[in-house]
Order: sequence, then structure tokens, then C-alpha cells
Amino acid sequence: MPLPVIYHEDYSPDFPENHRFPMAKFRLLQLLLVQEKTVAAEAFIAPDLAPMAALLRAHDAGYVTRFMSNSMHADESRRMGLPWSQGLVQRSLREVGGTLLAARLALSHGLAVNLAGGTHHAHRDRASGFCIFNDLAITALALQAQGRRVLIIDCDVHQGDGSARLLADVPGVFTFSMHAAKNFPARKAASHWDLPLPNGTDDAAYLAQLVPVVTLLLRHWQPDVVLYDAGVDVHGDDALGYLSLTDAGLYARDYAVLSACLNAAVPVAAVLGGGYAETPQQVAERHAMLPRAAQALWQAFMAPDEKAG
Ligand SMILES: [Zn+2]
Repeated sequence: MPLPVIYHEDYSPDFPENHRFPMAKFRLLQLLLVQEKTVAAEAFIAPDLAPMAALLRAHDAGYVTRFMSNSMHADESRRMGLPWSQGLVQRSLREVGGTLLAARLALSHGLAVNLAGGTHHAHRDRASGFCIFNDLAITALALQAQGRRVLIIDCDVHQGDGSARLLADVPGVFTFSMHAAKNFPARKAASHWDLPLPNGTDDAAYLAQLVPVVTLLLRHWQPDVVLYDAGVDVHGDDALGYLSLTDAGLYARDYAVLSACLNAAVPVAAVLGGGYAETPQQVAERHAMLPRAAQALWQAFMAPDEKAG
């Protein structure tokens, strides 16, 4: 069994090229992973569209209908920050389907990566900051409905305000967000644990704060599954972040979070999260750290068993 990596060509629909949101990054990342042989071309797993019932655990039916039928109010569209298209609808449903599938595969195989997801600013009845449906909250609620305890580790540079609000009062679900204190959203929500960071936080300071919290949460919250948002907008060259991680720091972070989960025997499903640069290719290269770290751990943790069995 190869490392489960989830991808669908719907992830990068036709989109204005000069838009701040690098919609092409998903397709470019998939290409890069094949070219560098991190993932074999035939190994990608295609997700279904998210079922409506799963969506409606987190979102208001009127909002879902308005988005899908292109009848959102002007201020709703402005907050979404993305131009509506049928491709965007398809992409949004596919992305959530990918995170739902990643969680399922993590539960059966220990580790899975969705090459999209982390749309953590989406609220119950409105889009925000390029996020339409909250895949993390939808997946956490689906898992919780199966009686599973869930821990969300959100390392995107922006606070996971949508997830925090949607999951604030859900028993068995814990939200942890580590983010730049002075960044979007201006009005923060209350996660179950927030760790705001000062501008300019570097690799060493970042990891020194993250690793003990992850270890503590795994030991004391004892989740059945972790959802990990590996946003790369913590990178020093990111256009929207104010932190100072390097490429090596991104890899070290992803490796640290995933290995902490696997060492604790907790299945982990990872999603891409945000990332902004001059070109979508630059963003894709930063996002490649996550599947590379996952693949290294897969070889270390899972492959020996396979050889023995
Ligand atoms: Zn972000």
C-alpha cells in the first residue's frame, strides 16, 4: 500500500491567472510530486464530491444554495474573494470530499494527505478569505458523529476562525490554532487553544513552541484522529504572512507534527492550507514539503510492516 495521497483535477479549475489566490497550485503540486517521484502517477486517489448531508452539519442550507446557484449577495461575494464559476462550485465540493476521504484513509492506514483543503475561514452562513466550505469542520463533525474524538492542529499563518466558531461547543472535538497574532482575521475567534505568534518568528522559535503543545494535546486529549492544516503561509517569503520560516523549517514542522501523531499511534489526515507568492509554482514548491515529509514517515513507519507481512 503506497502513502494515500488524494488529488482530483477539479482542484484547479479555470481561473483568472493574475488573481491573488494561486488556484493553479494544486495541479502544479501534483505534477511536481510525480516529476520528482515523491508520489507515483498512478498512486493518487480521487475523492467523491462531498455529500450534502455532510456539508449541512456545518453550513446553513440557505448559504449553500446561494453559493451553488450563484445568487450570493454582493457583500457575500466580496468576502469570499473568489470569482464564482461552476468550476469553483465543483472544486469546493471536491475539496471537502478530499478531506473527508483523507480522514477515512488515515483511520484505516494511519496517514493520508489531501492535496487541497484547509478552508478554515468558512463560517456557518458565509464565505471568508478564499474559503467557501469548511472542510476541517465538516470532517470533524462527520468523525464526531461516528463517536470519534478529533484534534485539529491548524498551523496556517492565519487563525482558523471559522473552524473555531463552528466547533466551539462540539463535544469530542478540540481546535488548536497557531498563527501570526497580527494577521487576518482582524477579529479572532476563540479556538480551544490559540497560540498567537509575533511577527518574524523563525524556524527555531516556531518549532520550540509547537512541538510541546502537540505532544501535550496528543497525550491528554487522546484523539482518535488528527486533522492537520499545513498552511505554508508561515514562510518568510509568503506574500500574506508575517512569520519567517524557511523551506527547511516547513519540512521540519510537517515532519514533527506527523511523526508526533504516528509515535502516539494516532491516525493523521493532513491538508494543504494557504500559501501566497509571486507565482503558483513557488507556492506549489512550498506545499511539496508536506507530502515529502509524509512519504519519508510512511517509508519509516509503514513500509517495514508491509515488508514483514
Ligand atoms: Zn492562511
